[in-house]
Amino acid sequence: MNIFAVIILVTLAADFILNLLADYYNLQSLDEGLPEEFSDVYDEDTYVKSQAYTKERTRFGILVSIFNLALLLTFWFAGGFNWLDEIVRGWELGLIWTGLVYIGFLMIAKSILSLPFSLYSTFIIEEKYGFNKTTPATFALDLLKGLGLGILLGGPLLAGILAFFTLIDQYAWLYAWGAVTVFTLIIQFIAPRWIMPVFNDFEPLEESDLRQKIRTYTDRVNFVMEGIYVMDGSKRSSKSNAFFTGFGRNKRIALYDTLINNHSDDELVAVLAHEIGHYKKKHILKNMAIGIVQTGIMFLLLSFFLNTQGLYEAFYMEQASVYAGLIFFGMLYAPVDMIISIFMQVLSRRYEFEADAFASATFHKEPMIDALKNLSKDNLSNLTPHPFYVFLNYSHPPVLQRIKAIRAAGERLP
Ligand SMILES: [Zn+2]
Repeated sequence: MNIFAVIILVTLAADFILNLLADYYNLQSLDEGLPEEFSDVYDEDTYVKSQAYTKERTRFGILVSIFNLALLLTFWFAGGFNWLDEIVRGWELGLIWTGLVYIGFLMIAKSILSLPFSLYSTFIIEEKYGFNKTTPATFALDLLKGLGLGILLGGPLLAGILAFFTLIDQYAWLYAWGAVTVFTLIIQFIAPRWIMPVFNDFEPLEESDLRQKIRTYTDRVNFVMEGIYVMDGSKRSSKSNAFFTGFGRNKRIALYDTLINNHSDDELVAVLAHEIGHYKKKHILKNMAIGIVQTGIMFLLLSFFLNTQGLYEAFYMEQASVYAGLIFFGMLYAPVDMIISIFMQVLSRRYEFEADAFASATFHKEPMIDALKNLSKDNLSNLTPHPFYVFLNYSHPPVLQRIKAIRAAGERLP
């Protein structure tokens, strides 16, 4: 059997089995009793509901991954990649357009086939647990907007990458790397102003006690930003969150309206202090730097494999092409990607501890702890995830660990 096919199949199987095992352990580790720490915010019913939610989401996740795996294997071994290639080539659109149509078709077909799952997730599961606020109209509009943005932003970038690898013999990977890096930086810069408002409304936080408290805090830690915004997260879900965008003087903090409704002012300042902690500890900058290096390595490896006949034979292709090569290389690269993403999660969890520490050192511990507890309750988070599941999937440490770390840290001034 073809060596590339073997590597990709082993990777797919390993990924599937590892995640299934993690799911299994995670369900096993759902604790009977409510952890003592949460007895002041959870009642018995809420805790039982949070466990049922974890179970239902896990089972649904397993179903989705079985479907995705079966879909890929069927399409692959039925010769689907070559079949589609023959059709699109038949239209004689030229190399770049053929590539755009080929990849675009695969992506759109994939999202159409995933549609029933995403409908079920939003309108059945999230609805059942009282989270869903999405109307069918919002759902449909989101899909269309996503597609439009994908074509508008992703299309030209993909065309550029295809052009570099088609037209340039040497160092195409360097050009592609440069293009993706510039593209990512531009997106980061324009996202708060031009992309996010396509999906949500952002209103500046009104003059209020809360705003006054936030300003007192940001002045004290010397944090200059463009503004604090309230995002209408309640348009889609009752779940709550806060995040940080932009850089330089362009920095913005967005609080979900659902977050503001469910938390005290002090908790909100603590959440904000945590977000500012990410900035002050340069987490955003570090992640961007790692991402850039990672992209470079990926394109360099891609350039080695793009002309490897065996990779195309593994997928029953009659002709090699840059666009098909991109897709196949993506699958070949999956093990590297998996290792990198686990490493990034480890790093991200460390960042969370650092941001918590920053928030409790520059503000107060108690409101940070209360905010974490209330957030867990409002989002029905799993309070007792299995360490192996956390290792593979969590970008944030389990909330109990975060609370312990906050309590353990000495109270000190920055
Ligand atoms: Zn964080």
